[in-house]
Parts: sequence; C-alpha cells; structure tokens
Amino acid sequence: MDVRQQKLADRLTQRQHDQLYRHRHTLTSAQGPRVEVGGQLLINFSSNDYLGLAAQVELAEAMQKASQHYGVGSGASHLVCGHSLEHHLLEQELAAFLGCERAVLFSTGYMANLGVLTALLERGDAVFQDKLNHASLLDGALLSRAKLQRFQHNDTQSLLRALESSKAGNKLIAVDSVFSMDGDTAPLAELAEIAEQHDAWLMVDDAHGFGVIGEQGRGCRSAFNLNQHSLPIVMGTLGKALGGFGAFVAGSEVLVETLIQFARSYIYTTALPPAVAAANRAALSLLQQQIWRQDALQSHIQYFCRQAAQLNLPLMPSTTAIQPLLIGDAETALLASQQLKQQGFWVVAIRPPTVPQNEARLRITLTATHSRADLDALLNTLAILPALQNRLTKA
Ligand SMILES: *Cc1c(COP(=O)(O)O)cnc(C)c1O
Repeated sequence: MDVRQQKLADRLTQRQHDQLYRHRHTLTSAQGPRVEVGGQLLINFSSNDYLGLAAQVELAEAMQKASQHYGVGSGASHLVCGHSLEHHLLEQELAAFLGCERAVLFSTGYMANLGVLTALLERGDAVFQDKLNHASLLDGALLSRAKLQRFQHNDTQSLLRALESSKAGNKLIAVDSVFSMDGDTAPLAELAEIAEQHDAWLMVDDAHGFGVIGEQGRGCRSAFNLNQHSLPIVMGTLGKALGGFGAFVAGSEVLVETLIQFARSYIYTTALPPAVAAANRAALSLLQQQIWRQDALQSHIQYFCRQAAQLNLPLMPSTTAIQPLLIGDAETALLASQQLKQQGFWVVAIRPPTVPQNEARLRITLTATHSRADLDALLNTLAILPALQNRLTKA
C-alpha cells in the first residue's frame, strides 16, 4: 500500500480499535415496523419514519403518477429550469399548513441548515448554538464564518451570558426542537423571548418535530404556541415523519426570498425530482386526514415510558418518539445492540462522536405502526438482555 492509502487504513484501524467503526446494513424490504435485513426479519426500532408513511401506497402512487408526467430527473436547479409545478404546490401547501407566509424547498435538511446560516450570517456576526445541536447546524455555522458560540444543553442562562457579552453585528440562535439523539425538547417559548430581547434571529431545526408535535403535526411553532414573528425561521425535513424526502425552510416572504437569492446550497444544486415533491404532497395530505397516526404514536410513547420505568430501564428523560436507553461505554452499547438483533430487534447503538464520550446509548424510536405487542416484546427482551444486566442491577 502506498503512503496515502496506508494513512487512511491506519485511521480505520484506530476506529475499529475504539469500538466506533460503523457498518451499513442492507435492507431488502420497505421501511416499516418490520424490515428484512440480510435475510433476517427484524422488528425495527431504529427508523425516523415515525408515522409509518414511508411505505404508504398513496405516496408511491403519487410518485408513479408524477413520474409518468415529469419523468425522473428535474434536469436543473430551481433557478435555472428545474422548478416544476409539483415543487411550487408543495411549497404553497407547506406554508399554508404551517401558517406562515412562505416556504422554500431544499434537497436535504443538511443543505437547508447550511443554506440558512450561510445566507444570513457572515464574518463579524455570531451564531449561538446548543451543544447538542445536529451536526448540520454546526457545519453551517463554520461555513458562514460567523463566530460560533455553543451553550450548555437547554441552558438559557449559559446562552444569556454569551449573548450579553457579544458585540456581533447580526446574532442568530439555533436549536433543534427535538434533540435527535436525546429526544428531549428545547425551551422554545423562553428562547423566543430571549431572541426578541436581544434582536437575535431564532432558528429551529424541526427535523424530529414536524409531522409529530403540535396540532395535526404542524411542528414546533404550533406545539409551543409561537408564530412566524416569535419564531421566524423553521427548518423541517420531509424524510422523517413525512415519509418522503427533502426539506424546507418556512417563514416570512422576505426570509424565503433571501434564501432563494443567497443560499448557495439552494442555488448550486439540482432540484429534487418532481415525483419526489409529488410524494411529499401526498404525505402532507395523509398526515392531515389520518390523525390516528399521531394519536397511536403518543399512546405508544406513554405506554413505553410507563412500562420501562417499572422495569427500571435507564431511559433518558424524553416525551417524544425518540427514547434513548443510556448505556455509557461504546463497547457495551454495541454488544446490547448485537444481542437485540439476535433476538429479532433492530435498535442501533449510538456512539461518539455522534454523542459525547461515555454517553453511548441505544436509540429506540417508536412509530405509529408498531403494535403494543411489538413494544412488549422489546421491553421484555431489554429486561433480561445479558449486556444490560450490570446496569439494571446498579439502577
Ligand atoms: C436528519 C436531520 C437533519 C438532516 O436532514 P436530511 O434531510 O436527512 O438531510 C437535520 N437536522 C436534524 C436534527 C436531523 O435529525
């Protein structure tokens, strides 16, 4: 091996040694509460398909119909010639659903976060971020060249101290609504007041809120009684609860127009396939027609937390579909995940650097289309899982 290749190989070996090596598992079935992986049927507690929409026939039909009309590729970026009526209608329907002036589509949530932060901030500005924010918000901050100031998780005092000593031109506070690896929520009402007092933008990444929290799944603004004024920037993704793909930013006319003009991750990329936009539209409509999905998810969350408490399982404090079980070291988390797989459950182990050192965990996600029996089966298996015995007796 030459020197360049050898350096990469050494880094991979180190990763393996640290128990942090990641593998992809290849699905041979649709996404859902039961999936087939490597010939094995698993009950899936790892997906972000919180409402069970990803494999719904209505989405597939909408995609099929639109692809017969529009074909597959969009052919260009939105500003060149790739913006179709399907994109346009989806943007209008999202804005109407969210009760704000306008929404703009991005190809992914990662790109939407990069786009907002780079379009709104520059050198001399400051961005204040929760320590547990999603990687894409942190990357967007670095790319913007604004000063990145991270505050302690959900600690508004820590944020206030940073804001009060800041001399930056523009200030922007960015948080996740529901933290993706912890499942807890940001204190958005308080953050909205702080942002207003300090003339700072408030931006919320609603990837795990849109579709599941708030009235009919309208997301964080609805759940926290905020509006386009008190919470001016919401980024939502379409690939999680909505079961589709893509993302959007929703806010005022002037905010959205600024993104269209200046967000480089919007301008310099090919538009989503129109058929994907059509599938997202079908999902948005199903979401509003089938409220039983949100209801079933809420009832699963309550049941799961109650039963886990009785079994002394070390769940982290969360009232959302993300129910992490704190383990600590990466090796034990991995072992627990492997033992669960042998018993027919897919629960991923989340390890550093995705979470802090010694906070490795099993990230259990509940979905509307699980059954009570699925939850009971997982709970009963966790209660006697060999890898967890030390932890359970210590608790
Ligand atoms: C998944 C996720 C994203 C990225 O969205 P994609 O559409 O998958 O690129 C951004 N923020 C959070 C909190 C996420 O969980």
